[in-house]
Amino acid sequence: MLTSKTLHYDVIIAGAGINGCTCAYFLHQAGLKVALVDKNGIASGGSGAAGAFISPKFNKQGPLKELLDLAYEEAILFYTTVLAAHTLIKPLLHISQDDSEDPIYLERSAIVDARSACETLAEGIDFYIFDVQSPTYYDNQWHCGDIRSKHLVLTIGAYPKILPIEYVGLRGIWGHRIDITTSSDVPHIFHEYVSISPTLKEGVIAIGATHDVHYSPFEPNSVYDVQAGRVELIKKAKKTLELNNINIVKDCMGLRSGSNDYMPMLGSLVDADATLALHPHLQHGKAVDPKEFVYYPNLTMVNGSGGYGFVLAPYLGKRLKECLVDGIVMDDTLSPSRYFPRWAKRKKGQS
Ligand SMILES: Cc1cc2nc3c(=O)[nH]c(=O)nc-3n(C[C@H](O)[C@H](O)[C@H](O)COP(=O)(O)OP(=O)(O)OC[C@H]3O[C@@H](n4cnc5c(N)ncnc54)[C@H](O)[C@@H]3O)c2cc1C
Repeated sequence: MLTSKTLHYDVIIAGAGINGCTCAYFLHQAGLKVALVDKNGIASGGSGAAGAFISPKFNKQGPLKELLDLAYEEAILFYTTVLAAHTLIKPLLHISQDDSEDPIYLERSAIVDARSACETLAEGIDFYIFDVQSPTYYDNQWHCGDIRSKHLVLTIGAYPKILPIEYVGLRGIWGHRIDITTSSDVPHIFHEYVSISPTLKEGVIAIGATHDVHYSPFEPNSVYDVQAGRVELIKKAKKTLELNNINIVKDCMGLRSGSNDYMPMLGSLVDADATLALHPHLQHGKAVDPKEFVYYPNLTMVNGSGGYGFVLAPYLGKRLKECLVDGIVMDDTLSPSRYFPRWAKRKKGQS
């Protein structure tokens, strides 16, 4: 029912991490009326914990490297223009962990102040704090709490899914970064076992990040050992660089959301029940053209950026804007629905 409180938007973006804030920024800049929603606050998830180092992928050729090379160029331009006050440009020395490759010196790399960058991107955009649960679509509108919109964009990272999209394979990987002061000089960014970098805060060095696959904040009674995380980070950093008189000034922790095939996700979502009702033979492994799947209307997911969320966000946000505003058809190689056929086949095996 339409109440006096109901507010109308062109787009609701659920999740205000770097993906949600960047998408909101591009769509707002393009003239759309945007509502940004987060259950805990801007950059309260993985984004608030990030380094956030902006670098390309140095090893392993393949589609992810190709995408990250493109995204890195867009990211450097984006952060140094739109978010210049929140971005420190520094050279980066990448050292391969097993000495299999020569070190790479990259003249132009960057570290972004994650939280203030997200907050700045969200400036001027209507922001709501509430937990979006089971959003519904009727009367040609998405309904989330008291707000409604034509489009819904899900940017909720590694948090529990809010629609029945079990086929979307996402893993939350816990990460820990520390900010320290040290009497040692850190002239540029080092990448080896961990990243070590100067930050925008004078004298503060960021060390990150650990990859703890065993801890999940969603598991009851699961406790993360902050002290052990600190010890691991410092031990790894000291294998690269001598760091004396360390004083830890801040711990930042959060979940990165990684996809099963390591590629990020940008695209529409299949309505699994409706698609299986229309194409039951998908459960027997029969190939169906993805164009024949039933998709949720005007629903897009941006997720699965793994350890490259800040590198990928400007690229993904721009592609989303091109699709919603300029009518450019989205490249379906990043579609989260790529996982659907295999899931449908496995589901048959399980039932
Ligand atoms: C320690 C650490 C270091 C990292 N370092 C780097 C780095 O150097 N460079 C880099 O590029 N990337 C880095 N990453 C990865 C990067 O942080 C992530 O890829 C990125 O933050 C993902 O952003 P996101 O917007 O998709 O998700 P998140 O930042 O997790 O945002 C999701 C948001 O959705 C909200 N939400 C969830 N469910 C709901 C709901 N039902 N209703 C409303 N709101 C909801 C959450 O509160 C959260 O704020 C690092 C990550 C960590 C943890």
